[in-house]
Amino acid sequence: MADPAVLKTPDEMRSFSLMALREDKSLGFVPTMGALHAGHKALIERARKENDLVVVSIFVNPTQFGPGEDFEKYPRTFEADEKLCAQAGADAIFFPDKKAMYSENARTFVEVGGLQDVLCGMSRPGHFRGVATVVTKLFNLVRPTRAYFGRKDAQQLRIIQTMTRDLDLPVEVVPCEIVREPDGLAMSSRNKYLSPPQRKQALCLAHALAHCKKAVAGGERDAMKLIGEMAEIVEDESDGEIDYIAIVNAETLDDVAVIAGECLAAMAVKIGQTRLIDNVRLNG
Ligand code: AMP
Repeated sequence: MADPAVLKTPDEMRSFSLMALREDKSLGFVPTMGALHAGHKALIERARKENDLVVVSIFVNPTQFGPGEDFEKYPRTFEADEKLCAQAGADAIFFPDKKAMYSENARTFVEVGGLQDVLCGMSRPGHFRGVATVVTKLFNLVRPTRAYFGRKDAQQLRIIQTMTRDLDLPVEVVPCEIVREPDGLAMSSRNKYLSPPQRKQALCLAHALAHCKKAVAGGERDAMKLIGEMAEIVEDESDGEIDYIAIVNAETLDDVAVIAGECLAAMAVKIGQTRLIDNVRLNG
């Protein structure tokens, strides 16, 4: 298991990509903010299977954090991340600093109208503009054949798919299933913030969503009723603050009244100071 090359500047990244292009090698790309866990590892392993070369980026992107959010305290664990990337078979880690990624007077941003304003976009204005912009920049530097995104961030995935289509970005976006802890909690770098009692309460998201999925499989189609039941589960099992619980069309992210076709049940709940998100796909 060779250690992945660590590329710290956009120039180093560009040289690596150019080499891949010249040698006609396919390149799989996994963009992350670090503090890597088994969810990230699954993405890297999938990229490893499907491509000649694999690049993981680790960049805590300042433009996707709002004022008062956790940019400063976001966990930064480079040494452990490097090990996980090596184990999962990455060839290179792109690990730039903020200055290398953003010129002081950067004034160009990518916005995905509508999709960026609902669900998480309501309480995190500007978040998805930051995500879409940094992913576009990363795509331009890395020039991947395929890029791997987790369904854990379902809205982000939908936004990246839409942006890639709308701007004709020459990359295949590959959605990957959510990796969960044995008890059902969706893996997240932010789970590190939870105290043991909060960790128990955090299960309310997975429990509520599992209830919803089961009810839909059993024939329930009334979205309002299910949202009410999910809220009850969250309230019974935690003293968390519900940011939103929604059932939306999986493509448009518009609220639905009746579950038909591909839908998504999604929620964000603040347990203490930690905002957690989770979702399940529903087939109506
Ligand atoms: P992050 O470092 O949290 O920005 O996530 C980087 C990528 O890993 C995104 O595409 C996420 O959707 C994905 N990811 C994070 N957690 C999980 C998980 N539990 N299962 C699958 N993918 C995940």
